[in-house]
Amino acid sequence: MDISTISAAVSSLKAAKDIAQGLLALKSLSEVQGKVIELQSAILDAQGKALDAQTGIVELQDQLKAANQRIAELKSHQAFVGTLARNNGAYIAPGDPDPYCPRCVEVSVTPVHLVKTGKQEMRYWIWACPECKVQMPWHLG
Ligand SMILES: [Zn+2]
Repeated sequence: MDISTISAAVSSLKAAKDIAQGLLALKSLSEVQGKVIELQSAILDAQGKALDAQTGIVELQDQLKAANQRIAELKSHQAFVGTLARNNGAYIAPGDPDPYCPRCVEVSVTPVHLVKTGKQEMRYWIWACPECKVQMPWHLG
């Protein structure tokens, strides 16, 4: 929704008000009946546009809720990442012996533990990320 939806509803209401004011100047019953029909049509138009604006407001509220939820996720992730320490290319959390995937920590909001594979390279175990599939030699040091 944009501001034009609300502007359209306001314009329709103004048109209805102008028609209603014009009723006062009319002299004959047939002129009044014609203006009443015009007024009813303008009111229906305004109601339709107000409904469009209301629907737009609901959509904006949903978008705002999703954006606030995303901000909360990012703040939570940022706070968690602030507790991590870089160690030989991976991240480790205090009191947690298993490293976190550096890629997932840095590009997503879901930290993922690396999993030790059965493979070794240059006497270090190869660790793999179950999420992004990165593999890396790693040792606590
Ligand atoms: Zn990963």
